[in-house]
Amino acid sequence: MTGAAPLDGRTVVVTGAAGGIGAAVVDVLLERGASVIAADLSWDAGPPSAGAEPYDVDVADEEAWASLAHRLEGAPVHGLVACAGITWRARVGDVRATDLARVHAVNVGGPLLGIQALAPLMPPGASVVVIGSLAGVNGHYPVAYTTSKWAVRGLARSASLELGPRGIRVNVVDPGFIDTDMTRSAPEAFREASVGDTALGRAGRPREVATVVAFLLGDDASYVTGAEIAVDGGSSGHAGAKTVSDALRPTYRNPSLPQHDPVGQE
Ligand code: NAP
Repeated sequence: MTGAAPLDGRTVVVTGAAGGIGAAVVDVLLERGASVIAADLSWDAGPPSAGAEPYDVDVADEEAWASLAHRLEGAPVHGLVACAGITWRARVGDVRATDLARVHAVNVGGPLLGIQALAPLMPPGASVVVIGSLAGVNGHYPVAYTTSKWAVRGLARSASLELGPRGIRVNVVDPGFIDTDMTRSAPEAFREASVGDTALGRAGRPREVATVVAFLLGDDASYVTGAEIAVDGGSSGHAGAKTVSDALRPTYRNPSLPQHDPVGQE
């Protein structure tokens, strides 16, 4: 690579930085020259990648954000990646309001408190990336999680309008089924159905989300705000049409192609 790394000289706070996607974001940002504040509930189990500064933050705790902002005061913060998130797989019939509130406190309250605490430290050109979810664009069955991910998209859009005049961009990345601790804790049937729903026929890797986050943090995305990018292997693109397509595929022959069986059943 020639010249400066694309995020050289930028300070970026990443929450949920000890987990699958967050840890990959930390690694990609370090590779691209950023100074990274790696925030998570605790770093007792081991530090982040060399070069990142660990910080204990419960994203649902306003005082923890105030303390981080205080620690960073005086130095510009060029980016926030709100990645910390939790799930709760109760369905509409049995989810409790307290669980709904707990999940929303982390998945929606966390990004909100992060933006409130750090936006005052951000110069023009800064960028906020909120990690949403495929669940935030469909009717995924874990209702506390799904509603929180729909809500965080609204938060990001409001924040993009609020912070736009200061030259601060706010965008959402919506991962699909990504191989992390969060998805490893799901039942096997969940995994199979989720992978089966992708156009690419596989789970995503945390790094495949992290590189899109890095793009949104950098100047190559300087006119992108209030936007959402799906990183889901095509799951959201077909809106259910994959079931129909897959059902009809065995009977389909494309006359313009050499006559081989497109599903490999020759
Ligand atoms: P993960 O492996 O469970 O990592 C999440 C990290 O966030 C963990 O280190 C966790 O710490 C931390 N965390 C949880 N609550 C926190 C809090 N209150 N304050 C600070 N940190 C907290 O999950 P992931 O799969 O990487 O998910 C990262 C983000 O992507 C989440 O927002 C998730 O909703 C979203 N997402 C994931 C997928 C997927 O397929 N994996 C798909 C769509 C969206 P502990 O481990 O100590 O709890």
